[in-house]
Amino acid sequence: MGHCIYCREEKDNNQFTLEHVVPQFLGGAYAPDFLKTRNVCKSCNSNLGLFVDASFEKNWIVSNWLRQTSSAFYDKDNPAEVSLSCMGNTDLCPPDLPEGHVCEMWLGPHGEQVFWLRPHDERLSAYVGGNPRTTKSIKTRAYFLFSENTSLDPFKTLLSFEKAFHGRRVKKVLCGEVDGVDPASFGFTQPDDLDTVRKEFFLANTEGEQMRKMQVKVNQRFDQRFLCKLAIGVAFCLFGHKVLDSTYGKELHKGLWYREGNDKPEVRGSTYFSDNVVPHFNNLVGFPNAVTLMLLSTPDGVSLNLNINSKLNWSILCASNETLTTDDVAKIGDGQILLLVRALKTGIYLDLPFYIACKYGITSHPELNNILEKSNMKVV
Ligand SMILES: [Zn+2]
Repeated sequence: MGHCIYCREEKDNNQFTLEHVVPQFLGGAYAPDFLKTRNVCKSCNSNLGLFVDASFEKNWIVSNWLRQTSSAFYDKDNPAEVSLSCMGNTDLCPPDLPEGHVCEMWLGPHGEQVFWLRPHDERLSAYVGGNPRTTKSIKTRAYFLFSENTSLDPFKTLLSFEKAFHGRRVKKVLCGEVDGVDPASFGFTQPDDLDTVRKEFFLANTEGEQMRKMQVKVNQRFDQRFLCKLAIGVAFCLFGHKVLDSTYGKELHKGLWYREGNDKPEVRGSTYFSDNVVPHFNNLVGFPNAVTLMLLSTPDGVSLNLNINSKLNWSILCASNETLTTDDVAKIGDGQILLLVRALKTGIYLDLPFYIACKYGITSHPELNNILEKSNMKVV
């Protein structure tokens, strides 16, 4: 028997699974092993993945910054796909748009337009790409158009089109031609009569400088449950069960399972919409084209700071002083920083003072320099 750190329920050992407390979409696969745990039940792993992790990852702001982060490492000599960027739901209504479907527009690496006709899910309407479970099981169609800049690097475009909507049952239709390229070899399907009519519709409606209305939905609280989950996971991995049972640990638990109308949890920190992080702070703790997690001892306890690309920043107290011993605090020392770059399969764990010294050019670190070089940036 074991206890799940998220739902707090006691379950059989076979009900547990490996959890990266820093999720994969942030580069958690490259985090040190101490940030992985088997104290998470299968049901939390799956449900919190859809309702908590995905709420954060598929938020329009986060998803586009993560996309920008990964495309910064594109190497022209070694072409690979880059993720498409979601622009939201369009006001276009293509022929025979199925009932309850929306026409979502995505942009390719050179401004190519892609229209995905997919089912709308009211509950998850603030997720780019809709409900990830539904679109894995229901067949949908997407229409891919080239832009005038595709010719700059058509292979990049085709590779990105090929990998777009990966893992979803999407019939892909190419609305254009490239000399010497068989669309089927990039995952495109021969259009049927309906596709032919829709192709004409999309080509006609994207010609010239037509104005389009786009709708992007953002849930103002998209990050609150996610931050509590991250704080619980990190605190547990660092300090064990005692932090879960502390008064503050219970507030984090309330925050993770928060529902509209519940008592507000007394969680300390800042969310995206509640905070005005100064650019200097973002530059100090963040790293260009990377995700950073900073751990810091504060008078109140150990705080966790999450930063994406020096642009987006969150802070949360993850363990309060009530339970921490001198040894616990010593683990954090003068602060620790974990820097993750998923595109380079890299995770670097450093003492904070050393990291800051590198950022100010006082000392240097080969792996940090490597990240800057690969993203074509010279100095921080
Ligand atoms: Zn659980």
